[in-house]
Amino acid sequence: MKQTRWTCTLFACFLTAALLKAEPIDMDGYSFEIRHDTLFVSCDSLHIPGDLVVVLNDRTNIYKKLFHDETDDLMEDHPADDLYKNIWTRERINAYNTPIDSIPDSIYINCREFCMPAQGYITSKFGPRRYRFHYGTDVKVQIGDTIRAAFTGQVRIIDYEARGYGHYVVVRHDNGLETVYAHMSKVLVDENMRIYCGEPIGLGGNTGRSTGSHLHFETRYLGNAINPEMIIDFSTGNIRDDQYLIAKNTTFKYYEEQKALAAAKYYTVRSGDNLSTIARRYGTSVRSICRLSGIKETSILRVGQRLRIR
Ligand SMILES: [Zn+2]
Repeated sequence: MKQTRWTCTLFACFLTAALLKAEPIDMDGYSFEIRHDTLFVSCDSLHIPGDLVVVLNDRTNIYKKLFHDETDDLMEDHPADDLYKNIWTRERINAYNTPIDSIPDSIYINCREFCMPAQGYITSKFGPRRYRFHYGTDVKVQIGDTIRAAFTGQVRIIDYEARGYGHYVVVRHDNGLETVYAHMSKVLVDENMRIYCGEPIGLGGNTGRSTGSHLHFETRYLGNAINPEMIIDFSTGNIRDDQYLIAKNTTFKYYEEQKALAAAKYYTVRSGDNLSTIARRYGTSVRSICRLSGIKETSILRVGQRLRIR
């Protein structure tokens, strides 16, 4: 949380100073003063954190990062390189082809340094949706709300999908997780940029396949999605545990559900159909169709209705 606090503290001071154009401000042993177009920060140099991040909110509500050291981004090593077998590509979110079966039974992920990506209530949970699987947690945000990096890491992908994620960012973290932030109105970082936990990476939006502004947030390990709610308590905005245990049988239990969904077959009711003829045609039973489709055996079918038959 340290970087976040520094970001917020300095940001708040900068903004206050900028708005007031006033006398020097003293805060926690730091003094801030604007002279002409320069912000002066005075303090005991021993107290400046090595990984200080300063962000600025300008009048159009766009955050900019100051003092960004671009040599950081050119580092040859990427986060968790060993784990990811040196694969660093912007081509796909899951570029690793690592089946869940090949993941060890239990792995601890260091989550001590964490920042809530967005403050808001959950609008849609991780799990099966009607005809597809939802690999993230949706959080209500307003357009322009600051979206922050959940952990420290490096930006792997920035892209735009008009019919999917809209403007989105994928970050690889030092702790081995990857996170995805989608449907944003604006991205504030660059590919390969080193970013710190709590750093603003974008602004909330409604781009791509989205109805109503929200953040679609994913947590992944070697490309395989993990329900973000297992790691983060969205009601309090805190990490559940400093060490998140990936227990294969629990964490990836949804995989079975997902496989069943992928294998699902649907049938659209036509004129003259009834449950028994459909069941016979597809070698299944009326009871099974009713269970999968969530209807009663006595239900009257209507033309155009979708039934799940497998
Ligand atoms: Zn979503």
